[in-house]
Parts: sequence; C-alpha cells; structure tokens
Amino acid sequence: MTAQLPHPVTAPIPRYHSKTAFSIPLDQKDAIIRVSAYHRKDFDRAVTWFTPRKHSNGVTCLSTAFREPTTSLGDLDRLPLELINEICLQLDIVSLLYLRQTNARARHVINALHEYQIVTTHALDPLYALLRTRSASRVTLLGFYRLLCTQSCSLCKDQYGDLVYLPTWNRCCSNCVRSGAPELYLVTLTTVKRVLHLSKTSLAKLPAFTTLPGIYSMDERSYSSRTTIVPTQSALSAYSEENGGTGPGRDLLNKLHDRPVLTFMACCAIPSYNPQTHQIENGISCAGCQLALQDGISTGMGEWACDVRDMVYSRDGFLKHFVWCEQAQVLWLGSNNGTVEPPKLPYSCKKGGYFTPRE
Ligand SMILES: [Zn+2]
Ligand SMILES: [Zn+2]
Repeated sequence: MTAQLPHPVTAPIPRYHSKTAFSIPLDQKDAIIRVSAYHRKDFDRAVTWFTPRKHSNGVTCLSTAFREPTTSLGDLDRLPLELINEICLQLDIVSLLYLRQTNARARHVINALHEYQIVTTHALDPLYALLRTRSASRVTLLGFYRLLCTQSCSLCKDQYGDLVYLPTWNRCCSNCVRSGAPELYLVTLTTVKRVLHLSKTSLAKLPAFTTLPGIYSMDERSYSSRTTIVPTQSALSAYSEENGGTGPGRDLLNKLHDRPVLTFMACCAIPSYNPQTHQIENGISCAGCQLALQDGISTGMGEWACDVRDMVYSRDGFLKHFVWCEQAQVLWLGSNNGTVEPPKLPYSCKKGGYFTPRE
C-alpha cells in the first residue's frame, strides 16, 4: 500500500512542499491540469488493453442504427417505453447485444438509451474486455453504467480507481494491482479443481474468466495462450461452503500460490463519468512529482517518493495535491499561464509513462 506522504503543514519537505498553499484561480483549473498533470498510459497498457485500431469497426457496429425501423419488438412493444428501457437496463451485456441484433426497432430503442450511449462512447475497452473474456453475461447495462459513475478504488477507498477488476466488476486502482492486494488474487481453474476438489455445482458458480493473449504487467511480458482463471477468494468461499464453514488448511492454501500477472490480466482501464457535469475522467498523475524525483529533490527521502509519483488522482484530487506540490507549481509557472510547454516538463510525462509505444 502507499507509504504515508509527510504532511505539508506539520512536516513540510523543503523544495518538495511549497511554503504556502498555492491559490488556484477558478478559471485556471483546466490549464493547470493540462500543464502539470498527465495520464499514465503505461498503467493502461499493463492490463488488458486494445489498440485503437481494434475499436474502429466495433464503434460503428455498436452505435449505428442502419435504417429506420419498419418492424416492432412484438409483444414487448405493448409495454410503455419506460418499461422497455428498464428491461434493457437490467439485461446483461450479452443478452442486450443479442436483443439489439433482433431488428432495426431494437437497435433504435437501445441506441437511444443514455446509459448505452455513455458505455459505447467512453468505455469501449472494458466493454470489449468483458465480451472477449466471456464475462459479459455477469454484468448488466445498469451495473456497467453505475460503475462508470463511481471514482474510488473499492479496496483502498481513498485512491482514484483507474481500473476495473473484470471477474467481479469492481473498481480498483493501479496501486492495489501493482502492490498485490490479496482481494485481487486469482488462480487457474485447473489448480482449483486439482487442489480443492469442488463439486461441479460450486465450480459452475465461480466467476470464471478467460484471459486474453497480450503484453501484461509493468515488466511488459508477452503471453500468447489463454487460461481460465477464478478469483482465489471466490474459490476459498466455495470450499468453506462445501465444508461446513471450514476453510482449507495451510498445505492446500500453499498450493493455490498466486501468480501476480493474473491480476493484471483480469483488469482493464475504465474511465469515470459524472452524470451532473457530464465530465469524463481517466485518472491523472503529477508531472511535478516526476520532476522532483528526476531533480533529486525527493530521492532518498523514503519510499513515498516513487509511490507518490505513481499516484493516480481524480481532477479534484490532483488539484488538492497541486496546492502543496512545489515542482508541479514550478511547471505551471513555467508555462506562461498554460500557453507554452514548461521547459522542465519530464520526457516520461510527455510520453505518458515508461512503456514503448505499441500502436
Ligand atoms: Zn486501491
Ligand atoms: Zn506532485
């Protein structure tokens, strides 16, 4: 978990914390974020990720109605439109897309849903990830949309959750994935069968998930095969249920050893959506904290220096950080009110992290 950052007021760090809180004019918030923050593309690409090229055909298929409907939805059309909409919201993603394929009328009804529009406009990666990992039948359109309307990591609570854990459709953060939070452990279905000897009924209930070939983890390792995996916690709960509340002994637990890369394979970057402002966020990190590391200001001052450089913030979260982050302020002050690129902007921030470009 993240090491504690010294408090700027009670224990300020010279040159890392500013002497006073920076006062941000309301009309400069966007420009400050544009200059002093950046999106960590490498965090997106360490998990399940699709090249934009893979999206191009799908976008048309998912959002085009093709022609004016001349048919109806049959008996379903006897219901008021609000009820039809409610039914669509409660459908799982696979059933919804099957219904949408029925005819032009179905496509018109579903395309007109606000929730469907938000999902297919802003969250194609997690949508494709659900479909391609055979997990989409566990998530309803409403469940998908509601997750988009949240921001916090469901595990550590206080950090912006830039990822979704696909097997259980919970928001989590890059930090929890990289630091190996036990709630995100996974194990192959083959190992579960071999070690826990669960009944067929219990096995069928597990939120199984088929990984995709790709490049995963911060080490950028390539994996070509597909494996069916399940959350370790779900497998352990099923074992306890079958054994009168008794969990497996240590010898069995040791055989369920975790492969950290499986957690990366089970996650996907997901934006957040604010229904009041209609603003989409993808999570941002502080370029000033990278500069502080590069210039030797925060190196050797404890493990928080790298942790804080790797933090992902919401817009509001970043601005709260900015008021005390002196190097972020240095970048802003070097940008002539956001009109030029600050001379000290680190190269890795321009690149969006450390990975080599893949698209
Ligand atoms: Zn977290
Ligand atoms: Zn900073």
